[in-house]
Amino acid sequence: MHLPLIVEKGVSLKPYNTFGLPAMAPTLVRITSEADVRRVLDHPELGRAPKFILGGGSNLVLTHDLDRCVLKVEIKGRRLLETRDDAWVIEVGAGEAWHDVVAWSLDEGLPGLENLALIPGTVGAAPVQNIGAYGVELQDRFESMDVVDLTTGRTVTLGAQRCQFGYRDSVFKRELAGKAVITRVRLKLPRPWQPLLGYLELERKMQETGISRPDARQIFNWVCEIRRAKLPDPAVIGNAGSFFKNPVVTPEQCRDIIGRDPEIVHYALPDGSFKLAAGWLIDACGWKGKSIGRAGVYDKQALVLINRGGAIGAEVVTLARAIQESVYGRFGIRLEPEPVVV
Ligand SMILES: Cc1cc2nc3c(=O)[nH]c(=O)nc-3n(C[C@H](O)[C@H](O)[C@H](O)COP(=O)(O)OP(=O)(O)OC[C@H]3O[C@@H](n4cnc5c(N)ncnc54)[C@H](O)[C@@H]3O)c2cc1C
Repeated sequence: MHLPLIVEKGVSLKPYNTFGLPAMAPTLVRITSEADVRRVLDHPELGRAPKFILGGGSNLVLTHDLDRCVLKVEIKGRRLLETRDDAWVIEVGAGEAWHDVVAWSLDEGLPGLENLALIPGTVGAAPVQNIGAYGVELQDRFESMDVVDLTTGRTVTLGAQRCQFGYRDSVFKRELAGKAVITRVRLKLPRPWQPLLGYLELERKMQETGISRPDARQIFNWVCEIRRAKLPDPAVIGNAGSFFKNPVVTPEQCRDIIGRDPEIVHYALPDGSFKLAAGWLIDACGWKGKSIGRAGVYDKQALVLINRGGAIGAEVVTLARAIQESVYGRFGIRLEPEPVVV
């Protein structure tokens, strides 16, 4: 027996986005099960109206009031689904906090997510931009997911191929954006567990501590320490993490830029292309610590744009555009925003 659907009206989204940007939603419904999605679709007013799917609001820039019903995904549940020879498979509700699931999996003796510790937001949004950090991406741990199609109301299980994962990208940022609610995600944690330490800051931790064979808990602790030292806590300073993707360039472009700026931070990718550190490009253009209006560039990490207090989305977008123009002017590279701008 379900309780009646609660439709909140005239809802401020400021507490629901980590940038702390003001925006109103005409209606908001908390989704706690797949059935809730279908009940919204059967609702006489909300059924046909456009929807906006909201998780933890940590990858959003809200630039205006929304004209659509917000479905705030709060589906809970986490369990070990299967123990295979090659992996443990866990199943998690889309509304679970990502970091809590990472911590829980370690408590349960199921390592494999430790490099992705302390990323804000929900499990359901993790595949949307194929979250990644410290050498691991969501797609490396992805088994399958359930989504409810907002057109048909049907639940469908999707595998990795259908998700079209890319660097901070998936089909949910493109053709399926706003069309399907991710309700449950299954992750596979490879057995036997292997530490992933090929990341400069983790190598530095190994040298500093003299621990050459860290276990998963140790890596989790290191990742949390590194992140706390360099990223602003959204509870204190509004932000959405890295604001731009690291641009990928051809070997020729990379050589050309190195010719002009030998210091540029770059990484070779397996396909022969190069990834440039967007934060370095922004810093080189002198943006670190600068502001436009009440939106600013974090003084410890130029890749993070912040709300200096009372900023509106338009100020963040104006700052982002100014940064894009100066990086393009100096390096000929177009920076692409990572968060979803609404
Ligand atoms: C301090 C900080 C550090 C960060 N570090 C990282 C990092 O290291 N790596 C990284 O990849 N990201 C990072 N991020 C970005 C962000 O945490 C992730 O993108 C996260 O997955 C967003 O989750 P969310 O629930 O907050 O999504 P939201 O911001 O609520 O939504 C993001 C997008 O996903 C869609 N969406 C949300 N839930 C669902 C669902 N259930 N079904 C379908 N669509 C959905 C929304 O419509 C929206 O388009 C960071 C952010 C902050 C603030």
